[in-house]
Amino acid sequence: MDNTTRLQYLQAMGIESWIPQQTARFQFPPPASVPVVERIDITPAVTPTVTTSPIVPVPEIINHWHALQMEVASCQKCALCQTRTQTVFGAGNQQADWLFIGEAPGEQEDLQGLPFVGVAGALLTEMIRAMGLSRDEVYIANTLKCRPPQNRDPKVEESLACESFLLRQIALLKPKVIVAVGRIAAQQLLKTPDSLAKLRGKQHQFHQIPLLVVYHPAYLLRDLRQKSKAWQDLQLAVKTYQAVRGQ
Ligand code: URA
Repeated sequence: MDNTTRLQYLQAMGIESWIPQQTARFQFPPPASVPVVERIDITPAVTPTVTTSPIVPVPEIINHWHALQMEVASCQKCALCQTRTQTVFGAGNQQADWLFIGEAPGEQEDLQGLPFVGVAGALLTEMIRAMGLSRDEVYIANTLKCRPPQNRDPKVEESLACESFLLRQIALLKPKVIVAVGRIAAQQLLKTPDSLAKLRGKQHQFHQIPLLVVYHPAYLLRDLRQKSKAWQDLQLAVKTYQAVRGQ
């Protein structure tokens, strides 16, 4: 006797047929004879995933960036949290090969919450363009996430308190080349008191990532005589990148 005939016999005898729940739950669409209420009862877990658009999972890396940015935004590890308007996390392409690291936010950056948006920022944008890049192709951050009052130099305890944020940004970004913008950023990253004149013009390593030192645009705005040296430094950075890519 086939199964359909068997079920018809059972029904005629008033015996309820038993359908395994597992099978019923995965039936889609449910048989038309099943009342709507029953359909909801037996298919709670499956119906939404089949009938609605799936929720696209957020890649883990985006969660890490977001979590870090939230942590920075609420940071109170040093006294700069009392004078800042807001933190300046960093901006740009989170998949960039290039990471530019400045010293600390200035007045405009503190107001807008973005790095290098003042007059010096405009020159940095030009420097990046001279390297054949745009700001959308690089990531820009600072060693300090908060503005020191009156743009004074960062204090040691402020730099130390902030250091892990930048290291975590670097771990997430995995840049191919780092450009330290200005003396303070270079000294802090390389842990050296050496002058910019001594640090520029050669390749350094930061956690096995090539690091180049360039003049800070604010300095170049004050002393345009350094323009040709600045140009050489940018070219060296490009050459370094090309060498890394060629490996
Ligand atoms: N100078 C810096 O070093 N960083 C900025 O974000 C702005 C000016």
